[in-house]
Amino acid sequence: MYGDLKEYLTAELQSIEDAGLYKRERIITSSQSAEIEVGGKKVLNFCANNYLGLSDSPRVIGAAKRAMDTHGFGMSSVRFICGTQDIHRELEAAVSKYFGTEDTILYASCFDANGGVFEPLFSDGDAIISDSLNHASIIDGIRLGKAKRYRYANADMDALENCLIEAQAQRFRVIVTDGVFSMDGNVAPMDKICDLAEKYNSTVMVDECHSAGVVGKTGRGVNELFNIHGRVDIHTGTFGKAFGGGAGGFITGHREIIDLLRQRSRPYLFSNSIPPAIAGASIEVFRMLEESDRLHSTLVENIEYFRTMMIDAGFDIRPTQSAICAVMLYDAKLSQDFAAAMLDEGIYVTGFYYPVVPRNQARIRVQLSAAHSRAHLDKCINAFVRCAKRMNVF
Ligand SMILES: *Cc1c(COP(=O)(O)O)cnc(C)c1O
Repeated sequence: MYGDLKEYLTAELQSIEDAGLYKRERIITSSQSAEIEVGGKKVLNFCANNYLGLSDSPRVIGAAKRAMDTHGFGMSSVRFICGTQDIHRELEAAVSKYFGTEDTILYASCFDANGGVFEPLFSDGDAIISDSLNHASIIDGIRLGKAKRYRYANADMDALENCLIEAQAQRFRVIVTDGVFSMDGNVAPMDKICDLAEKYNSTVMVDECHSAGVVGKTGRGVNELFNIHGRVDIHTGTFGKAFGGGAGGFITGHREIIDLLRQRSRPYLFSNSIPPAIAGASIEVFRMLEESDRLHSTLVENIEYFRTMMIDAGFDIRPTQSAICAVMLYDAKLSQDFAAAMLDEGIYVTGFYYPVVPRNQARIRVQLSAAHSRAHLDKCINAFVRCAKRMNVF
């Protein structure tokens, strides 16, 4: 009896296609790296979240293999039944040490972490105050609970203050924000957010997916960047970006919060444990970052070089303190033609336009990595300049 539904879905797919919004996936036939093979052609990759270049690190791969040899392939269980190994606890301790927090809980993804964090902690009489540009998983997580919802314009502290004043009617308040916003690469003003939280008796949660491993003197995220240790109550994050790019998420923060999540957080209680290979590899990632800041400092040098050269070349770059660099083109079609021309030049970047970004704010998003060499960066910058001249961008 599929008929009616099939007809509806076919029409729906056609309307996505007609609107020019149908997403097509490029097939990569190499490992994820600075240089990848796409459709039989080698290109430089400037659109992965591989910030520290660990996606194909031999040391990380070796740790994953060793963990499989010693701890097997899968856990076949959730954590509280028979799915917790020593390495799961060891990874939680490594995350806590890295962020300077009391305890950590692992999830299958950060999408799950954000989906499971609100409902156990905040209920009917509470308030969740959320930045308008927060990640989809935060929006979904908030929807799963009964707390009253407030939304403030991106990084707008007056708007946040107004929400906090209104939310004095509720029992507990939590301000929720991405650490780095993925479309502009701007960092949330965490110092001001913490000041307001203290003034209005609110807790603070930050999603560190794009900030951890990247911002702060040694990459330890927003606490380090703003010197706000102990003032953020909940950090969520992923192993799927800077920290190796495999998969898995976590929540780290105060002991009681993590304890209660272990008792009540549904994606933790009712979903399989992360596989030993991921746990073992992620432990190795934190060991590497503990031993040396080299990967992070290389990333920072690459970001500074790329931004300086692009601004000198005349490009309009969004202010950024992260590894995300938005090269503004404004026109939707131009952003798509530009990305295609860049691919012809051997540079893989993505063009974003409405509704992913506001109307007439189309752009090419460049993501920098410690894996990029100076030659890679120069090749990318030169391709940008050639394409811009050819397409009359300036
Ligand atoms: C990538 C991302 C997520 C999802 O992380 P996964 O571990 O891939 O599920 C959540 N929040 C933000 C801000 C992200 O950028």
